[in-house]
Amino acid sequence: MPAPIDRLTHTPSISCVMPAFNEAGTLARLVPQVLSELLLLSPQVELVIVNDGSRDASAHVIDSLCQQYPEVVGIDLSRNFGKEAALTAGLHAARGEVVVLMDADGQHPVALVARMLALWREGQDVVYAVRRTREDQSRLHAKLTHVFYRLINWGSRVEIPAHAGDFRLMDRQVVEALKALPERNRFMKGLYAWVGYRSMAIDYEPLPRADGRSHFGWRGSIALALTGMLAFSITPLRLLALAGLLLAGAALFYGAWVIAEYFLWGIDVPGYATIVVGLMFFSGIQLLSIGVLAEYVARIYEEVKQRPAYWVRQRMGRGLPDPASQVRERPARGPRTARAERDHTQPSLPL
Ligand code: UDP
Ligand code: MG
Repeated sequence: MPAPIDRLTHTPSISCVMPAFNEAGTLARLVPQVLSELLLLSPQVELVIVNDGSRDASAHVIDSLCQQYPEVVGIDLSRNFGKEAALTAGLHAARGEVVVLMDADGQHPVALVARMLALWREGQDVVYAVRRTREDQSRLHAKLTHVFYRLINWGSRVEIPAHAGDFRLMDRQVVEALKALPERNRFMKGLYAWVGYRSMAIDYEPLPRADGRSHFGWRGSIALALTGMLAFSITPLRLLALAGLLLAGAALFYGAWVIAEYFLWGIDVPGYATIVVGLMFFSGIQLLSIGVLAEYVARIYEEVKQRPAYWVRQRMGRGLPDPASQVRERPARGPRTARAERDHTQPSLPL
């Protein structure tokens, strides 16, 4: 166990992880700016850019940035795995004592990292940025987001903070905890909450996108919300059970009413319309229940296959020294050495 460091006096090495999907237009401008800001905070800095299977010239831009700046590391994924997987790949590649996650589109103001680091010095393990406004989103989107967080946190022990994004600074301990989580359906906002640690929110105003447009339209947002809901909550199953209970209660009540009508007032049971409507309604509810169950089963299927969350084509650049190789310089060498080397290029999720 390394000796605990005095955060107030220690200058930590900083890794900044940036997932990038079709960000060629922004990276060349953003990287020097982020690097110069980070180098004001620590002499030991690396910028891990994860190329998430971009279809534009991002790979080429990252390659030339790696050659230009010794601090830049490029992690080239074999295809587009999605932002959550790209973040995971970046966390596995990062070697700093603190790790900052930041988008590659210039929406996250790098100036905020100094404040985050100051709070880390005061003892916070996680400092995350919460957007002050959602003016760039429609009212409906903002309302649905609100409902989503109410539902996902309903009856849950782990409270996922609403509006917290991926822009955050984390201590090495927190990063190790996140790396130990083996699931494939990764909803990072939930995973950050699950690992816990002393966390603090600071608010910020997102900058306008430097180039291009958001990759998360309605479809992307709904898919992510679904992954989050299914991975972190059994609320949909509970709601179905509740609906079943209410409907069964209503059917019982209606049955009693029909019997009473027949025996007390001699009114005949009215025709087939009620039967048809009832039948359609109940079969609809049943199909819906099966559908929701199937969503959970599909996720279980994906988990049991144990495929890695991402696959690295190549790692470029140097970045910070590898702590594993520093251990390796000691006399004891064995088969673990080769494993440690491999672990930095491919996911090392515990299986
Ligand atoms: N991103 C990614 N893989 C994807 C989609 C997005 O790595 O499949 C990256 C993207 O390059 C950016 C960050 O994730 O750095 C946030 O994406 P975006 O700006 O589209 O999302 P928003 O800011 O609208 O939430
Ligand atoms: Mg963005």
